[in-house]
Amino acid sequence: MRTITKEAETTSAAAPLAPEDLAAINRLSRRELKAEEVYAFAVRLCDNHTDRDDEYFDRRALEKLAALFVGKTGVFDHNWSAREQTARIYRTELVEEPGTVTEAGEPGCWLKGWAYMLRAPETEGIIAQIEGGILKEVSVSCAVARSLCSVCGNDIHDRGLCSHVKGRVYEGRRCIVRLADPTDAYEWSFVAVPAQPAAGVVKAYGGGTLRQMLAGLGQDGPWREELRALEKQAETGRRYLEGLRQETVRLGLLAETELSGDVLRAITDKLDGEELEALRRCFAKRMEKAMALPVQLGYGGEEKPGGEDDLSFTI
Ligand SMILES: [Zn+2]
Repeated sequence: MRTITKEAETTSAAAPLAPEDLAAINRLSRRELKAEEVYAFAVRLCDNHTDRDDEYFDRRALEKLAALFVGKTGVFDHNWSAREQTARIYRTELVEEPGTVTEAGEPGCWLKGWAYMLRAPETEGIIAQIEGGILKEVSVSCAVARSLCSVCGNDIHDRGLCSHVKGRVYEGRRCIVRLADPTDAYEWSFVAVPAQPAAGVVKAYGGGTLRQMLAGLGQDGPWREELRALEKQAETGRRYLEGLRQETVRLGLLAETELSGDVLRAITDKLDGEELEALRRCFAKRMEKAMALPVQLGYGGEEKPGGEDDLSFTI
């Protein structure tokens, strides 16, 4: 048994509450609630794509989680602590992503949760933040019975049976982990957009998503500027990473004559900033040895545009 915690991405403001939604909510609530007392919204809980931990829930796992998450409480950060300031999932559905296929070869899908909270003076602030797209990321936890290696099919934690390493490529196949047989879903939590963006934020706010969010926000408010700054920083991070990739491929072609540019490109595409940096250093060392002189490098030491911090945007 293993507890899995995953970051998820989006919420959206809900359409007007349908009678069957209210009925579902009232099956969970302590007293009979009226539509106007309730605020409902949707949360993207998890999907079946490989995530940055090289793990994925398979479709059957998502189907089981769909049932397990109903009734589960969502909490906000420590600024919101009162009992009224919680949300609860009252309905879930598996949403198909037509035309997408996951790395494991399944048609793409994601688990959507519908949550409600009470409209009260204490929850006004939270509701405004959800509607403004500020409270956007949720973190979900669940227990799974098995974590299966894609290469050998055994549980990856059974080191007696499986010796593979997540993310590594074995005879052309990347080792990814299938999270199967969820046995329980736990409380989920909302996290506000951190003032200092950390790894993972780009995943949620990158490209179109952020622009859509900006478009959805009002003309004024401090969020707009902050989000613009975030987008700018993320862009700097992406540019840096792309430069580092090109440099690593260039050096790789010189240092490893056996490898083609396409293969090197495919390898570097899978690496994050830190791994790329290590590979680039390794190629550079080989070049130095081969040529018996130091190699002038585009992304060495001081020349790094944007500085070390940008690496945190590139995961
Ligand atoms: Zn294995």
